[in-house]
Formats: sequence, C-alpha cells, structure tokens
Amino acid sequence: MHKYVYLFSEGNGSMRELLGGKGANLAEMTNLGMPVPQGFTISTEACTKYYEDDRNINDEIKAQVYEALARIEKINGKKFGDAKNPLLVSVRSGARASMPGMMDTILNLGLNDEVAAGLIAGNPTPAFTRFVYDSYRRFIQMFSDVVMELSKKTFEVIIDEVKAAKGVKNDIDLDADDMKKLVDLFKAHYKEEKGEDFPTDPAVQLMEAIKAVFRSWDNPRANVYRRMNDIPYSWGTAVNVQPMVFGNLNDKSGTGVAFTRDPATGEKALFGEYLINAQGEDVVAGIRTPSKISKLHEEMPAVYDQFVDIATRLENHYRDMQDMEFTIENGKLYMLQTRNGKRTAAAALKIACDLVDEGMISREEAVMRVEPKQLDSLLHPQFDAAALKAAEVVGKGLAASPGAACGRVVFSAEDAKSWAANGEKVVLVRLETSPEDIEGMAAAQGILTVRGGMTSHAAVVARGMGTCCVSGCGEITMHEEEKYFTLAGKDYHEGDWISIDGSTGNIYGCAVKTVEATISGNFDRFMKWADSFRVLRVRTNADNPRDTAQAVKFGAEGIGLCRTEHMFFEATRIKAMREMIVAKTVEARKEALAKILPYQQGDFEAMYRELKGRPMTIRFLDPPLHEFLPTKEEDIAEIAEELHVSVAELKDVIASLHEFNPMMGHRGCRLAVTYPCIAEMQTTAVINAAIKVNKEFSWYRIEPEIMIPLVGEVKELKFVKDVVTATADRLIEEAGVEMKYTVGTMIEIPRAALTADEIATEAEFFSFGTNDLTQMTFGFSRDDAGKFLDSYYDHKIYESDPFAHLDQKGVGKLVKMAAEMGRATRPHIKLGICGEHGGDPASVEFCHNVGLNYVSCSPFRVPIARLAAAQAAIREQRQ
Ligand code: PEP
Ligand code: MG
Repeated sequence: MHKYVYLFSEGNGSMRELLGGKGANLAEMTNLGMPVPQGFTISTEACTKYYEDDRNINDEIKAQVYEALARIEKINGKKFGDAKNPLLVSVRSGARASMPGMMDTILNLGLNDEVAAGLIAGNPTPAFTRFVYDSYRRFIQMFSDVVMELSKKTFEVIIDEVKAAKGVKNDIDLDADDMKKLVDLFKAHYKEEKGEDFPTDPAVQLMEAIKAVFRSWDNPRANVYRRMNDIPYSWGTAVNVQPMVFGNLNDKSGTGVAFTRDPATGEKALFGEYLINAQGEDVVAGIRTPSKISKLHEEMPAVYDQFVDIATRLENHYRDMQDMEFTIENGKLYMLQTRNGKRTAAAALKIACDLVDEGMISREEAVMRVEPKQLDSLLHPQFDAAALKAAEVVGKGLAASPGAACGRVVFSAEDAKSWAANGEKVVLVRLETSPEDIEGMAAAQGILTVRGGMTSHAAVVARGMGTCCVSGCGEITMHEEEKYFTLAGKDYHEGDWISIDGSTGNIYGCAVKTVEATISGNFDRFMKWADSFRVLRVRTNADNPRDTAQAVKFGAEGIGLCRTEHMFFEATRIKAMREMIVAKTVEARKEALAKILPYQQGDFEAMYRELKGRPMTIRFLDPPLHEFLPTKEEDIAEIAEELHVSVAELKDVIASLHEFNPMMGHRGCRLAVTYPCIAEMQTTAVINAAIKVNKEFSWYRIEPEIMIPLVGEVKELKFVKDVVTATADRLIEEAGVEMKYTVGTMIEIPRAALTADEIATEAEFFSFGTNDLTQMTFGFSRDDAGKFLDSYYDHKIYESDPFAHLDQKGVGKLVKMAAEMGRATRPHIKLGICGEHGGDPASVEFCHNVGLNYVSCSPFRVPIARLAAAQAAIREQRQ
C-alpha cells in the first residue's frame, strides 16, 4: 500500500515536496507543540495520481482519506455530519511553492440542515444562530463556485435582492432570519441551475472538494502563474483538510495575518492586522477596517503575548521572515499557517543582510534567499501599487523587457523622438520594430509591438536599453498609417495615454502612475557576497558606450556580444551602407565601406574606454542586407536620388535581395564570404581602435576578440578567419606594436554544434548563440513563434517559451555536446553564451553545470545573472 494521506502529526517541515509548503509547515508547527487544529494532508503524489487516473480519486486514496478523517474526529472530539457535535473542516490547496490566490479553498465544509439545526440547539442565541446560518450560506456559495463551477456572482445578486427588500446596505445588517432565508434561496438557486439538490452528505462534500482542489491545479490562472514563476506542472498540489476554528463566534474571537518583519521594507518588527469577530474572508473583503496587530496587546493581552512568543519561535526556527495566519476562537489562539513570507526585493535584501548580522544565517544562505528575478524590480521603474489596483487590464502580450511605462501613444520612431524632445512621455506602438527604430525606441518610456517573440528585435533591443517592452500582442488590430490601433473594442489614437508592464505583459488603456527604481544600500553588500561564491563570469551584450557604462556599473566583467549591425543604422552610416549594397564593383564597395570605417572605429574606441581593460567580443555583421534598404515607395524614391541611382535600379537591388526565409538567408558569415571587404573593414576598425586605446591606457592591455557569426562549416570559418588575420596581422605589424587578438565563432547553427570538434580547430572561442540555435533546432521562427506557442502551453506540450528559458533537453544537449567536443580539440577553448538565455536564472544554472566560462546578457540582467550564477555554484557544492 502506498501512503497518500498524512496526519499533521505524521509529517514535518522537510516534507515540502510531498505535503506541499502549507502541509509541511502545519506538520512542523504541530511537532513544535504549537496550537494547530489537527487535520491531515493529502499528498502531491495523490494529485499526480488523480491526473494519471483521468481525473479520478482512486479507492485506495479515498479509503486513506476516510481513515484519516476518523482519526481526526477522535483527536478533536467531534464527528463529521453529527448533529450534536459536528466537525466542520476547511479544504485548502498547498503546493510545493506558494501560489497565493491561484488555487481553491473551501471553508465550513460539513454543514447541512441537520448539522446547522444541531449546532443552534446547543446555543440558541440570535447571535449564534446568525453565525451558523452565515457560515452555512458562505459554504453553499463557495462550494457551488469552486466545486460545481456555478458563478459566485449569481449568489451575490440574491444577497443584494434580500438586502434591497429589507432596505439595508451591508451584510452586517442581515439578521439570523435573513441568513436562514439566504440559505434556502441559495439551495433553490443551486437546484434550478444544477437540476439536483445541494449535496447534504458531508462525505460526498469532502471528496468533491478535494477533487476540486486537485482540479484547480490546472485552472488557467494557476497555469499562467506557474509559467511566470517557473513552477513545473508535474509538481501537483497537496490538499489540507483542517478542522474549522471560528473567528466569528463572538467578541472573544477574531482572525488575522501577521509577518515577523515588514514585507515591504524588511524592518524588524511584528507587522500585521486582525479583525475581531470575523472570518478570514472579511479581512480580504475590506468591509471592515482591521486593527494593527499591536492593538491586540490591549484587547487580549494573554493571546497577544502567546502570539508574539510563537511568532518569535517560528522565525528563529525557520531562520527567515514568517507570514502567519491565525484565528482566535473564544479567547483561544490557533495557528492556521506559517510560511516564509513573500517580500519586495528591497525587503528581501534587507532581511538577508539583517539575518546575517543577527547571526541567524551564513552569507551563503543569505545569497540563496533572494530570488534572482526579483532584482529586476530594483533596477526598473514600477507601477504605483495603489494606482495599478484601480487600472483595468485591456490586453496582454509577452513580458519582453521588465519595468513599467506610462506614456502617450506614438506610431513611429520619428514621432517618438520628436515628442520626447518636446518633453512628452511616449509609448511607441509598432506592428514590429526594425533596427532603424533604435533612436525612437531609446526615446520612448516603453515599447509595445503586435508581432515578435522573446528574442525579436524589439525584445532584444529593449532589454539592452533597460526599457520596458511588451511584444507580440496579437489582440491588437494595427492601423499604423492611420495612426490608431484597436484593442478590446476600443480605438487608441496618437496622443492617447496607455501604460504597459514589461514584467507581466499587461496593457492598461489609461495612464497609471509609475515610481522610479531605487537601489538600496544593501544591494552592493549582498552582490559582493554573491560574487564570492560565483564561478561563472558574467559579461554583457552591448553595442554602444552608454549601455556599456551601465553594464559595468551593474558588475559586467566585459562584453560578450557587441552586435555591430546597430552601428550601421545612424543616418550618415546607413547611407554609406546602402552605397555599398548597390555598388557594382569591388572598388565602389570598398569606397563606401571606407566611409563607415571611421565611425565604426570610433564606436569601438569609445566602448574600449568605457570597459577600462575589460574584454570585448565583437561580432561581425550578421543581418541580411535587405534590412538596410527601404520598403516604402516614397522612401525608395528619396533614397534612389540620394544614391544617384534610378528608382528602377534600386528596386531591382531590393528585389534581388528578397528572400523567402531571410533568417536562413544571406546573413552572418555568408555576407563576409560573398563580400570579404566587409570583414576587412570591420577588422581594421577593431584592430585600430584597440591599438589606439592601448596607446592611451597601456595598462588596459586590450586583446580584441573577433567573432564570426552563423558558422556551420569549418571551411567557411577558415575562409573568413583568413581575411581577418591577414588584415589584423598587417595592421599590427604596421603599427609596430605587440598585441594579441583571438578569432572565434558563434555556435548558433545545429551543424556547428554537431561538428564542434572540427570548428574548434579554427575557432579560439565559442559563444553559444542560443537565440538562433533555438530557432533552428526547433525549426520555428524566433519572431513568429509567439503566435502559436500559447496553444502549446494550453495543451501542455511546452511549459515555457524556449526563447526565454533554454530548452535543456534538446538545445541544451547541443550546447553540452559542442562544449565537450570543442574542449576535446582545444582544451583551453573559452566557452560562453550570448543568446538571451544568458540572463535567465535557470539557463544560467545550466551554463554553470555544463562548465561554460561565462554568460553574457543585457546590462539590466547582469545582477540577475551574477546572483543566479552564485546560487548555481552553491547548489552544486551542496549536492
Ligand atoms: C543568437 O542568435 O543567440 C545571438 C546572440 O545572436 P542574434 O540574437 O543577434 O541573432
Ligand atoms: Mg544569432
């Protein structure tokens, strides 16, 4: 027989995987001798079994539930369904990781007409009668809603009707008779809707409620929450069945919630509130104003002292801030829950530092206590919590770059620039962005796109700039030319206010106030601790001096990916680039490139100066050339004139560059194979910049790292590398300096990973470009996958976006294999990752585990990667 059901007295705090967080902690509090109403937990394995058995609770589990029920009846001296001395229970979910409010709860279970009458017979006062019928009607409402999926709202309509008939406003004005009437009306409503009587047998009620909690593991909001918080679907939830204690019994009763430290600031002081003569829901419903926990000291001094003692013991026991729920029934205190409390990022850092100072935890433990992703909120503006509560979500896209933005809608990069120059806050709304939009994107508070995934242009660029971005909101109908879009039935025109949340993907059709990011004094101290455990190096993806400086401030140890294409898009440069593209001879092409050279060299110099001797991997031109050419009729005419070619000629060039699969087209090193002069020009810019800055600051000792993209075959790498080395060696010799440099490649095509041993004969380093590697391994476009991935989540085919979290099984296997093969050929080959996964905590851990030397991510994710890398190292040591 497999054990699926555990009395609280049979578990302990370490059994979180099996009993869920709530169940394990109830067991732990029981073991600590704390006043916990004694119930039982149905394990997460039972939940998994329920799903395996086609959403059925099998007889073995049922038998164990009934047996546990019999045992808690004995322990509590009450009987389920007994009219004289009935046991009523709560049925609550409790997953391994807390998922507040995502799953279902049922209170007061076990009530029926006889039980209600029996309870009242024991204490036939009007107040108690009201209490019983109030509990009963709440139970019918909750059970119908949660178990039978009969909307709670329809019951609220009935309450409103009863109140209106009586001429009163608040629930509190309804007396015992009214409550009894509500019970009858609710039951009649239930029968009408469901075609059968409300279930009166408590055993049936219980089993249906357990099923409903299991079922709620798979409800849409839980699925979304899990995806956002990386909680695996396979974990399942436990179910806790616990005898009810009543905070709404009389004036010597009450209920409340408290934290051992302030969850917003981390300040060390008991923080919380309670309501006398109330049930938990009343605290949430906000009809009455709860009192501060300190007031309990005056109202019930003995209970208060006992609670403070328990809270202190719990915090010392768990060595972390606790979030506790309690109920007082007729002057007696009961603990209903404790858990490590959720907290803001600022509070998390303060608490971690304070606990170290108090001698409660080691630095290593402190580093493990803060969720890497949480650091985001310290680095980006956020919505004002109160303002956000009042705002309505009108749409949702991908949470592509975190932070909050509020501004007026503009539809083009030029408008974003000019509006911002006039002091306006703008949100740039585009069908999709292109490299040309870069300045407009930098000027905007936020970016919203209709198309594009987590590694689309908008997402990558926004993350680089630390600008909030929601991408791929397919619900939007876009009219870019006419300057309006439609979302949720409403038109938004240029100048209208909207707000977007890049951390959740939510879109609000109005202005929502934002608050600036503030980095607390604990941040540096904490990050230094993290660095002391970290093995992986952390670099950044940056292609301009501003982002470089920002990343260095956040602790970047160099640049792992400088995408040079962004350096071609400024007005003067793009013109030269276009001249190069339309050029008919090598000479003309070289002439055009020569115009770009000084700009590019200047960019590299500025970045080397910002890096102050830190290394930089410069990647050569990657995108297909058509991205540099105009698409609109009027632009084509204008640019043809600029380039001194006819419109027809330019159109011919554009047509010749058209590709059916540009992502698999003439891009990456293929450009340098066709036009070696591009690689020559870029090599010249890099080498000359390094020589120059080394002369200015001899102690920097810059050794350029040149990276060839999109390699799939060692011979093509060798071809381009030969161009690079011929140019570089010549320049170094001419300058009469000694400077080392390396030439490496991106591993971003499956064939490169499969032949990494050969590639490593030429490549001096590998940088895994997991954006393209994911795209080409899955065979779906990084820009378009967002359109269909939702159905894959709904059907549980994928649990998360493979462009956001590295697919360790498939793409990860290629990374691991290529790393091993590369090292076999060239033992000291440097290995890194520069795809967007380099800033994702789970992917960073993977990179640590396969022994990469560094991860490279956008500047604002550098602290996250540092912390994730530290945690990965600690976790590995602990194993
Ligand atoms: C990649 O493909 O992972 C990469 C870093 O390059 P890009 O995103 O510029 O294609
Ligand atoms: Mg790539």
